[in-house]
Amino acid sequence: MDGDLAPIPELLALCERHDAWLYVDDAHGFGVLGDGGRGSLSHWRVPASAASRLIYMATLGKAAGVAGAFLAGGHAVIEWLLQRARTYMFATAAPAMIAEALRASLRVIEAEGWRRERLAELREKLRVGLQGLPWHAPHSDTAIQPLILGDNATALAVMAALEERGIWVPAIRPPTVPVGTARLRITLSADHRVEDVDRLCTALRDIATH
Ligand SMILES: *Cc1c(COP(=O)(O)O)cnc(C)c1O
Repeated sequence: MDGDLAPIPELLALCERHDAWLYVDDAHGFGVLGDGGRGSLSHWRVPASAASRLIYMATLGKAAGVAGAFLAGGHAVIEWLLQRARTYMFATAAPAMIAEALRASLRVIEAEGWRRERLAELREKLRVGLQGLPWHAPHSDTAIQPLILGDNATALAVMAALEERGIWVPAIRPPTVPVGTARLRITLSADHRVEDVDRLCTALRDIATH
C-alpha cells in the first residue's frame, strides 16, 4: 500500500543471525523489478548462496497477467510441500491453457524491457505532476504510487471526483492502511500513456482547488 520495498538483504542478515528462513511474497515485484523483471531478489542482488534460507513466492495474476502463483525453494522444501500442502494436494492442477499463456508472458517479461522503462518514465512524470498538491505523495520506486489524503471522507470524495472525470483510482482506508492515512492507490502500468498521467495530475489539481 506504500509502494515501498522490503529491505531483503537486512532481513536475510537477521535470518542468518537467528538461523531462520525468509519467505518472500513478491506478488508486486515479479515481472517488474530487477534485471529482466526477475523480481525483488534480483533488484537487491541477493547472492545465490542465500537460496538455502529462502522461500520465494510470486503470483502470476499481476505483471504476468495470467492466474495462480508459484513457489521456489530448496529441493526438500518443495518435496515437502508437494506431499503435505493440503490446498495444493487436493486442488485440480492448473490447466495447460494457463501454463501456455504463462510461457508467453514470461517471454514478454524477459524480452520487452521497454515496458519497465515506460513504467519508470510514467513514475517520474507522476512524481513531478503530483508536486504542489496539498497531499503527501511518498517516494515509491514501484508501480504503486500512494497519495495520502488522511481522512476517509476526503479519500472517498477525491475518488468519486476522479471517477466523474473518467479516472478510476481506488481509495484505500483503514484497516487496510493505518488510521489517518487513507489514500488513493495510484497503480501505473506500462499500458498507460504519458497523457494519461497528465490527465490524472490535471484532474487532481482541479479537485484540490475546488
Ligand atoms: C495480489 C497479492 C496476492 C494474491 O495474489 P492472487 O493472484 O490474487 O492470489 C498475494 N500477496 C500479495 C502481496 C499480493 O499483492
